[in-house]
This record gives sequence, C-alpha cells and structure tokens, in this order.
Amino acid sequence: MTIAATLIEGDGIGPEITDATLRILDAVGAPIDWDEQVAGVGALESVGTPLPDATIESIRRTHLVLKGPLMTPIGSGFRSVTVALRQEFAMYANVRPVRTILPGQRYENIDLVLIRENTEGLYVGYETTIAVGDDPKAVAQSTAIVTRVGCERAIRFAFDYAVANGRKKVTICHKANILKAVSGLFLDVGREVAQEYQGRVAVDDVIIDACAMKLVVDPWQFDVIVTTNMFGDILSDLMAGLVGGLGLAPGANIGEHTALFEAVHGSAPDIAGQQVANPSALVLAACMMLEHAGEPERAKRVRDALEHTVREGIHTTRDVGGNGSTREFADAVSNRVS
Ligand code: ATP
Repeated sequence: MTIAATLIEGDGIGPEITDATLRILDAVGAPIDWDEQVAGVGALESVGTPLPDATIESIRRTHLVLKGPLMTPIGSGFRSVTVALRQEFAMYANVRPVRTILPGQRYENIDLVLIRENTEGLYVGYETTIAVGDDPKAVAQSTAIVTRVGCERAIRFAFDYAVANGRKKVTICHKANILKAVSGLFLDVGREVAQEYQGRVAVDDVIIDACAMKLVVDPWQFDVIVTTNMFGDILSDLMAGLVGGLGLAPGANIGEHTALFEAVHGSAPDIAGQQVANPSALVLAACMMLEHAGEPERAKRVRDALEHTVREGIHTTRDVGGNGSTREFADAVSNRVS
C-alpha cells in the first residue's frame, strides 16, 4: 500500500539532508507518495509567506509529514513555523530518542527517550513589551500557559510509550518549587497519571536543574523523561550531546490525527550548501515515520544500514569525525540497504 505524506525540505541544510534521506528511502523501496510543499524562509521568498495555505492543506490531507529544518524569518511579526505547525495540528507529544550509535564517545550505551509537551508553556506566544518613558521596550513579558488537558495527554503519551516499548521508568521533570502554577500543575497531573500505570511502569520526578546535572554525571539512571515544552527543548540538545551531537538526534511530533517527523537540530546556516551536514538525524526521523506508517521492516533495514555506516566511519560527515560529504554518506547507506 502506498503511503501519502507531505514533504517539506526546509531551509539551510534542509535541501541537502532531505535529498540524502530521499535517496535512502528510494533505495529501500519505501512506498511513499510525496506531496512536496514549502515552508520557512524559502517559502517566504518564493510565495510570500513562511507557512502557505497549500502546505497546511496538504498536511490536512496526508496527516503525515517529513520536514527538514525551518528558519524563522528575522524581523517583526513572524513566529516559528515549526511551533505554529505543532499547534495548528495539535501535535502534543514530541518524541526524541537518543541512542548510542558511535562507540568510543564520552558516554557508552545510552538509550533514552525524551517526551516533550509540544504545544503549551512559554511557546504559546503570549509575549509583549511595555514602554516606559522613552524606552519602548523597558519591560518584556512572556506568559506560560499550561492546561490540565495538555499536561495529561503528553504525560499519558509518555507512559503509554513506555508500556508499548518495554521501558521501565518515566521521570517527570519540572520546576514546581519555583514555578508553582505552571510546573506545579504538570507535576500534580504527572503523579495522578502515574498511579494508573502502577506495577507496569515505575515513576519518579526530578527538578530540571538537577536533571541536567544528573544527565551529565550518570545518564544511565534515566529511561523515559517527560517534561514541559521549554525544558524539553533544552534537555533534548543536552541529550543529543550524550550520543555524539545534533547530527544523530531524530524527533517525532505526534497528535491525535497528524504526525510530523524531523531532526532535533535547526537549519544550521553556518554549514548550509557545503555538503558537510550529517543527514542521519533526518534519516532516523524518516525511520520513525516508516514505523508509524506500518513499515517497521524497511525502517529497521535503513536504521541497520545507517548504524553500520556510521560505525564503519569511512563515509561519515565531519561532525562525527569523518570527512565524507552528505551525498557520499547517503550513497553508502543506500548501497547497504538495497
Ligand atoms: P536553530 O535556532 O534553528 O536551532 P541554530 O543554528 O541555533 O539554529 P542548529 O541549526 O541546530 O542551531 O545548529 C547548531 C550547531 O550544530 C551548528 O554549529 C550547526 O552547524 C551544527 N549542526 C546542526 N545540525 C547539524 C548536522 N545535521 N550536521 C552537522 N552539524 C550540524
């Protein structure tokens, strides 16, 4: 059966890593019918808006998206397109697994999953600046909004994910000692939801700052971590660092009806157009998409080929110690899957 999916190649290194990913998906014979759409700065330049209606309509049709990184246009009025998409399609759970692929790193045998609440908190966009006297921006204000429903669906997702994937423990990460309202609600709801999983999944909780320290000192004590939007943003970069950096960290945005797969990293304008970007994160995101769409066998073939190619180290990109190009790495993975 053919899978219909929307493809957004994105900005910066997006076109290079998307091309690499499509080559590998072709090589494995992934039966995907792509509807190519634009978003981000590229879309602003070509069609005058960073999030065209045609892109939204395509996602409404397919409910499935593979997305390269998007740049947020600098200047007034534009919010992050990625955040807007998460909110538009209520993709409330952001799944960010980190697993050691490359041996000989500072940390061995890392196998963790971060579940980030994806639509609330400080990302709701309630922001303002207040003028005082001659200073138009004397005071700045950002309001975090957290709802019981929002907390519950993300936390329940984390526990269900743990059950479905044979994970033993969920850690609720918060700052309830200071942010008593927004983080307090998240922790309260977390403890309530955890009771329903008693005997199946262990639970504990940790304050965000201690969590960051513990992840660096002894990451193996964690299994699944669930947290609010901004803490999740920060922790997922930290966790990517445990396994060799952003080039290897994929993510899935999951909602009731729509799922969007992407790399954790941004558009990396500093290396765009040079064929040095590591496409692994987007390729691994595509594997998550294949699994989601009922193609676990092809996902496994791609993941095995990618891991083998990374470990072999001959065709890897420079961020993981090699000197291969984006295209060369993609060809090496493609040759292994086909
Ligand atoms: P954003 O605000 O969109 O997150 P950013 O530039 O702050 O953008 P990233 O784009 O994630 O953050 O890049 C952070 C650093 O990691 C940059 O130095 C970038 O070159 C590097 N980087 C990110 N992705 C990759 C990749 N796929 N391959 C190699 N290096 C990468």
